[in-house]
Amino acid sequence: MFTSVLIIDDSVTVREQIIRTLESFGLFSRYYEAEDGMEGFKILLSSPVDIILCDLEMPRIDGFKFLRMLKTRPDYQDVPVIILTGMNDRDRKIKGLEQGASDYITKPFDPEELVARVNIHLKIKKLQDDLRRSNELLLELSNTDHLTGLYNRRYMMKALDKELQRSVRTGGNLSLIMLDIDHFKLVNDSFGHQQGDIVLQNVALLLQKELRSYDCAARYGGEEFVAILPDSSLKESVLVADRIRMAVQDNIFSGSLAKLSLTVSLGVASISQEHHPTVDGFIKLADDALYRAKGNGRNRVECHDSERLKNLKKDTDAPHKP
Ligand code: GH3
Ligand code: MG
Ligand code: MG
Ligand code: MG
Repeated sequence: MFTSVLIIDDSVTVREQIIRTLESFGLFSRYYEAEDGMEGFKILLSSPVDIILCDLEMPRIDGFKFLRMLKTRPDYQDVPVIILTGMNDRDRKIKGLEQGASDYITKPFDPEELVARVNIHLKIKKLQDDLRRSNELLLELSNTDHLTGLYNRRYMMKALDKELQRSVRTGGNLSLIMLDIDHFKLVNDSFGHQQGDIVLQNVALLLQKELRSYDCAARYGGEEFVAILPDSSLKESVLVADRIRMAVQDNIFSGSLAKLSLTVSLGVASISQEHHPTVDGFIKLADDALYRAKGNGRNRVECHDSERLKNLKKDTDAPHKP
C-alpha cells in the first residue's frame, strides 16, 4: 500500500536523520519535508499523508500553531501527529498532546523508539480507516434493496421527507411516481419465482434509465417501485411515467422469459406552492392514482389531478430529459 509521511522540522539534519531511519525500516513509499508549519500545511493540502512528525520549536508557524491550524480542518482529524520535543520539555509535551498531538518523541531520538511509535500510530490509523469504510458500506447496504440495487423503502421515505421540506422552502415542484407491475403473480406462476426476480431487476433498470441522475428510484416493496422527481411538474412527470410504461411494454426479455409481455401501471402525484401534503399524504396521492390506473384497465398512467392533466397539450410538451 502507498504510505506517506510528512516531516516538519526547521533542522535539515533532524529531517534527514528521521528519513534515513524510517527508510531503513522500509516504512513509507513517500516522504514529504517542510521547514515550518505553514510549508507543512501547504503540502498537506495538496498531498494527503498517513502520519505527521512535527517539531514544536520552529520560526514563523511553530508546532503549536500548526496543531491549531490542523484542528480547523475536520478532514485531517484522523491523521496522527507525533510531536518532536526536547529532553526536558515536560510542559510543552503536555501542551502539545492537549492541542491534538497523538504522541511525542524526545530529541535526540532513539531510532528504534521512533519506528515503534510511528508503527503504532499507523496501525491505529489503519484500524480507524477500516472502521470508517465499514460504516460507509453498512450505511450503503442499509439504504439499498439487495435484489435490484435501487434504494430501499427506508431510504426513500427519508429522501422524500427531505425533498418535501426543500420544496416547501424553495416553492419548487416535486413529483412522485408509483409503479406496480401488472399481474406479477402470474409471472411468478408461469415462469417461477427466480425468473420473477429477474423481471424485477429488469424493471428496476428500465425505470432508472428513464430518470435523471438527481431523481431517486426505489423499490417500495414486492413488485412496487417509487421514483422521486425533484423540480418536476405534474405535466413533466406524467410524460416520464408514460415513457417508463412504454419502455416496459416494449422491452423484449431474453432466455426463458422470451415469451413474456410485461406491463406496468403508474400513479403520479405532484406538489407545488399551493399544495403541501405530509410524506404519507403524498404517497397516498400517488397510490390512489395508481389504484385508478389498475381499475381503468392497467398498462396506463393516472395522476392525482386528472382535471388539470386533461388541459395539458401533449404536443407542446418539452422533453423531460436534458
Ligand atoms: P396487479 O396487476 O393487481 O398488481 O396484480 P399482481 O399479481 O401484480 O399483484 P399481487 O399483489 O396479487 O401479487 C404480487 C406478487 O408479487 C405476489 C408476490 O409473490 C410477488 N412478489 C413480491 N415480492 C417478490 C419478489 O421479491 N420476487 C418475486 N419473484 N416475486 C415477488
Ligand atoms: Mg526546531
Ligand atoms: Mg402490488
Ligand atoms: Mg402488481
